[in-house]
Formats: sequence, structure tokens, C-alpha cells
Amino acid sequence: MDTISNEEIWALFDNKINLPSPPAIALQILNIVQQQDFSLHDLEKIISADPALTSKMLRLANSSFYSLPNKVGNINRALAVLGTNVIKNIALSFVFTADLRNTERSYFDFDYFWRRSVTTAVAADLVFEATGAKDEDIFVTALLQDIGILVMFLSQGASYIKVLKKAVSNDDINLMQAEREEYRFDHQHFGALLLEDWGIPSTITAPMRYHHEPELAPAELSKKASILDVATLLSSIYTNKKTAQNVKALQKKLESFFPMDSDKTRDLLDNVATKSLEILKIFDIDPGDIKPYSQMLQEANDELGKLNLSYEQLILELKESKDKAELFASELRFANEKLETLAFRDGLTNLFNHRYFQEALVKELSRAKRYGHPLSLLLFDIDHFKKVNDNYGHPAGDQVLVNMAKAIMNAVRPSDIIARYGGEEFGVILPETDFSGMKVFAERLRRCVAANVTETGEHSIKITISCGGAHFSPGEFASVEELSPSLLINTADKALYISKDNGRNMVTNFSLKKADLKSHKQ
Ligand code: GH3
Ligand code: MG
Ligand code: MG
Repeated sequence: MDTISNEEIWALFDNKINLPSPPAIALQILNIVQQQDFSLHDLEKIISADPALTSKMLRLANSSFYSLPNKVGNINRALAVLGTNVIKNIALSFVFTADLRNTERSYFDFDYFWRRSVTTAVAADLVFEATGAKDEDIFVTALLQDIGILVMFLSQGASYIKVLKKAVSNDDINLMQAEREEYRFDHQHFGALLLEDWGIPSTITAPMRYHHEPELAPAELSKKASILDVATLLSSIYTNKKTAQNVKALQKKLESFFPMDSDKTRDLLDNVATKSLEILKIFDIDPGDIKPYSQMLQEANDELGKLNLSYEQLILELKESKDKAELFASELRFANEKLETLAFRDGLTNLFNHRYFQEALVKELSRAKRYGHPLSLLLFDIDHFKKVNDNYGHPAGDQVLVNMAKAIMNAVRPSDIIARYGGEEFGVILPETDFSGMKVFAERLRRCVAANVTETGEHSIKITISCGGAHFSPGEFASVEELSPSLLINTADKALYISKDNGRNMVTNFSLKKADLKSHKQ
């Protein structure tokens, strides 16, 4: 970095014209304490002249931050108990934080700035204490260490906003780089220079010049600068977003600094939050969402617990919906079976219906053709069924149909497809059945029906059927391409009518020949 003289820096602010003036009361306090033989009474007079400042100072003096054994009721007593230096520092802290604040909404978040500064101040005090010593100046030093940022913003406006934007996140190292690029000095140096100019003692301003770079501090300032650096990191845990990352970095920094295990670090962190909350209240600064680190961990843990709980719920819900889906699937299967029944079965006899019979015939015929297997088809019709209805009534006729269906179902093989073809007309597809097999089957069927009696309670009804069979054996054809389901049906139908014509209750069978194909075509 190019070095820049203090004169050049002041020139940037038109030799201080563009700088905010230090609060009058701060100057008065500083003037008094700088005098060799100042009286406590004079200091008390200045502070007491400002009732708001007085009440804030007494609240702070009586807070857990100082944990005094007895309550302090006035500034005189506070001076006696806490000492001039402490009282002066408290006064300066209040004066600066109250004065350098802007309630207007702007790019610069004043509340955030002071929240961060107060937390850093509290942290610096507690870290110092953890080293086994106490330092009266460390609080106000840490509180004011970034005042350069604030004053740069107030006096440079847009030019500094550009720098802030360039630094993006709240990373002070980035910010210092951006500042140096733009102005050839950084807020560390400028803040210290400004406060020196305002008469703030060097015990405060000297270490603050190295708060981001303790390694560059002269030996005598090294400890304080390091504490300011650690305190800055500690504060960022409560004011930045990268909490976990910062806690890790803090632990490492603390360890290199003095022996500190993670339990002690956590206590320190909690303590910083608790005390900061108390002090921010006295300083009238919005505490934002600061809460002790342990509480943050607990809340995160609770969140995780909730997540686990909902994960369990999710599993349960999944299982329930799986069960539901299975139930639904079985209901669907059942419904499908029912639908299939409705679609393919005849409502009265429960035999296959006409539609199914047609489809089955197409399928079985093409199968027979493909594999060169024989296929037989039977059609049968109840003889003089009209008379059954006429003599016993239509319901009795229905009963006869149902009863006959049952009887013939018992007479067929499971592979045989038996259907109600029309009113009292039925069809049976006999796959893989040759001509003689068909003849035997048809005869058995005729006898089965003839032997079957339907008892209506009032009457015992007997019926007969006339049967017509059509058989086809692919081996007997050069080409089976032209053999159609309708040719089979027509052939069986013809045979059936021959049975009717020949006196009923009989079977007629045809075997399809090449000639039949030709005649069918014509
Ligand atoms: P054929 O021996 O020539 O077949 O004489 P048929 O009386 O059986 O023949 P036709 O075609 O003249 O009469 C069929 C009768 O079958 C008429 C019709 O009322 C009856 N029928 C058809 N379907 C049903 C049914 O579902 N229930 C009842 N009870 N009767 C039916
Ligand atoms: Mg009939
Ligand atoms: Mg009929």
C-alpha cells in the first residue's frame, strides 16, 4: 500500500470541514480528564447536567456488567466505586453511540453498526477478563474501533457506499482492501487518527489501529490488538450469518491465544450474548436477533428434532398410503373381475355372452391355423322352447335356461368355451378337438340336456336340444388363410337346422373341406 500522510487524509475531508464534529459533551469530558489536577466534582457536574446520560450511566453501573455488590445511586458514588477512568469511558461510549446515529433509512444500517460495536466491546472486555486481567479501556476501544467506517460513510457518502458495496459481505478484511484501493488508507487507521484528533487518549486509539491486523502491532500493543481481533470475530458470530464457520475460526484463534476448551468457549460466547443484550437495552440499540450461542444450538437441535419427527410422520404416511394403495389395487382387481364378468358373461345363465364367444372364436381359429391344430364348433338350440314359455310361463322358461346351463357346464372341459349365443341358442368352442371328438361331445351334450329335469316346484320340465357341429383340421387344407369364423358358424348353423329338420333332439356334424371354402366364397 502507498503510504499516505495525515495531511493528505485531512485534505480528503477538506481539512475536517466535511467531518462530523465530536459531541460537545465528549469534548468537555475529555478536556477535564486531560487536566492533571481535574476534580471529580467537575466530571460529575458535566455528566449530571445531562439527565439522559446520567440515568443511562447509572443503569450501566448497576448492571451485571460491573456486578457491584451495592447499588450505585448517583454519579458521585459511581465515580467513587468504578473510578474516574471507567466513568469517563462509559460516558464517552454513551455519547458517541447516541450522537453518531441516524434514524433515517439509508444504505448504512446504524443499528447494525452499533449493535456490532457494542457486542464487540462486551466481547473484548470478557476475553480480556478470561486472560486473567482487567482493562478499563478495552470496552470503549472496541466500541469505537470501527468508527472510521461510520465517519467515512457520513462524510464521503456515495463514494464510500461504492466501497461498501465492493466489499460485499461484512468481511472487514475485504472492506479494508476496498478502502485502501479507493483512498489509500483504511478505516482502522482513519478511526484512530480521528479519535486522536478529538482528544481521545492513546491508550484507546493506539491498539484500535491494529484491530484487524494484530500481527503488525508493536509488541506493547500486541495483546490488546489481538483481543480486539478475537472480539471482532466473536461479535460476528452474533451479527453475521456464517455462525458455525465463525465459531470454528474463533475456537482456533482462542486456542492459539490461551488455553481454552470448547466448553469454556461456549460459556464465553453465551456470556457475550447475555451481557450484550443487557447493554444494548441501556444504550437504546435494537438488539436484532441476538441470543446466546447455547440457545442457538438448542433451537437448531429442536429444529432438527422437528425434522426427524416429520420424517417419521412421513414414513408412517407413506406406509399408510401404501396400504391404501394395496387395498385400492385389490378393490380394483375385484372391480375389474366384476367388470369382466359383466362384459363377458351372460347375466341369466352366467355362460359367456355372444361378444365373448365371437372374440374367442377369432382367437381360437387363428391359434389352430398357426399351430396346425384341429378346431370344432357346436351350436345348439332348445327344441320348441316357445312352448315351455307358453305352458309354464316365462320365469319357468328362465329357470330352465339356468338349470340347463349348469348341467352342461358340468359336462364340458375347462378349455371348452360355452356361450349363450342368442335367446335359447348356444355355442361351444372345442379347441384341439377332432371330428370324432366333436361327435362324441355333441352326443353327450344332447343326452345331458335330455336327461336334465328342471323342477319349478309346480312342474318338472324336460327339454331337448338340436345340435349342429362344424369341424376343421388344418392338415386337410393347402391354405387356411381363407377359413373364417363366420364360415365355421354358418356351417354349424346349417348342421343345426338339418337336425331340426330331421326331427330335433339330434346332432348333425360337418367337417369343412376345400369345397366348402369355394362355395362359401361364391
Ligand atoms: P325350435 O325348436 O324351432 O327352436 O322352436 P322354438 O320355440 O325353440 O323356437 P323359436 O325361435 O320359435 O322360439 C324361441 C323362444 O325362446 C321364443 C322366446 O320367447 C324364447 N326365449 C328366448 N330367450 C329367452 C329367455 O331368455 N327366457 C325365456 N323364458 N324364454 C326365452
Ligand atoms: Mg328353439
Ligand atoms: Mg330359436
